Amino acid sequence: MTASETRSLFAVASRPEVVSLAGGMPNISGLPLDVVGSMMNDLVTKRGMTALQYGSGQGDPTLREQICDVMRPAGINAHPDDVTVTVGSQQALDLLTRIFIDPGDVILAEAPSYVVALGTFRSYQADIVHVEMDDHGLVPERLREAIAAVRAAGKTIKFLYTIPSYHNPAGVTLPQQRRAEVLEICRQADVLIVEDDPYGLLGFDGEVPRAIRADDAEQVVYVGSFSKTFAPGFRVGWALAPHAVREKLVLASENSVLCPPAFSQLAVSEYLSGHDWMAQVKDFREMYRERRDAMLEALDDLMPAGAHWTRPTGGFYVWLTLPEGIDAKAMLPRAVTNRVAYVPGTAFFADGFGARSMRLSYCYPTPERIREGVRRLAQVIEQEMEL
Ligand code: PMP
Repeated sequence: MTASETRSLFAVASRPEVVSLAGGMPNISGLPLDVVGSMMNDLVTKRGMTALQYGSGQGDPTLREQICDVMRPAGINAHPDDVTVTVGSQQALDLLTRIFIDPGDVILAEAPSYVVALGTFRSYQADIVHVEMDDHGLVPERLREAIAAVRAAGKTIKFLYTIPSYHNPAGVTLPQQRRAEVLEICRQADVLIVEDDPYGLLGFDGEVPRAIRADDAEQVVYVGSFSKTFAPGFRVGWALAPHAVREKLVLASENSVLCPPAFSQLAVSEYLSGHDWMAQVKDFREMYRERRDAMLEALDDLMPAGAHWTRPTGGFYVWLTLPEGIDAKAMLPRAVTNRVAYVPGTAFFADGFGARSMRLSYCYPTPERIREGVRRLAQVIEQEMEL
């Protein structure tokens, strides 16, 4: 295990004078804290004997039913028996890796991919094989080639890890046609898909992309989270898995944490049933859309020729590629001196690629700070080009 590049960055990036476009923290400033507070109070006084007790390893049954409702906009019709509640979706990724991976097994993952998932995969000694993306996400033909190449080398593929909607870090979304192709390729090759979807409800046009899992309950494990649609502090996520995988997930989870925290699960459950949580999700969308607009406008206005970037339609991130010859990691100390921070692209690859790229998050700072951050970044890039 090694410290991720994001991790060592947090100390500098959190200094108040630095505009951090690095972290991916959800902006929870819009949450009605008084409402949540009185719900928590009621939870302890009225249901404390359950909320403060151990619970089922698979997760609270009522919450599992509600999770099925939460997945419906993505086209998923699920049974609560197939849902396992986890400590954030991160624990679902950890448990799935633990279940499937023997050292040297291959996990296919987009290039780039979510940094902490890559860390998890590495910690179980998986071999990560990246599959190319373009502005529309994973390229099906490259997936087909990667599967063939890995198998020709005599290695075992355990699953494809993919973030089809509002990708972290790439900011792109896989169109429906490609989802169908990816599913068909994985079916034919018998490769399990782990579909990670924490941002699916946060599309700026209000449309929720149809999950790959909606079209196949056997080939896909769907992983979801309340971190971006409610609050990450509760650490509640889930996995929706085919029966055999679900059984192992519950065993693995019991061995790991006994049960997901009852208090957090009931808190989320109360919030879903006692509050218009969808209205809150719509507010979050609007807030993130305003920030996305601020970042894209600033990039369009200020970035030097030769830089290009993705145009996210939801989620938190823009992926920016620098003009030829500039290394984002080498430039970072100078950017921090100029009071702006980002995550260098290499963090999102298992193989050292991505040196010319960076992830910019627009989720947390105000639109004004985002504009200022992009202005500072453009300055540093221009200075770098003159070197
Ligand atoms: N997957 C992706 C793609 C993410 O961006 C994140 C959070 N940044 C997670 C999983 C983990 O989220 P959590 O554990 O809070 O549910």
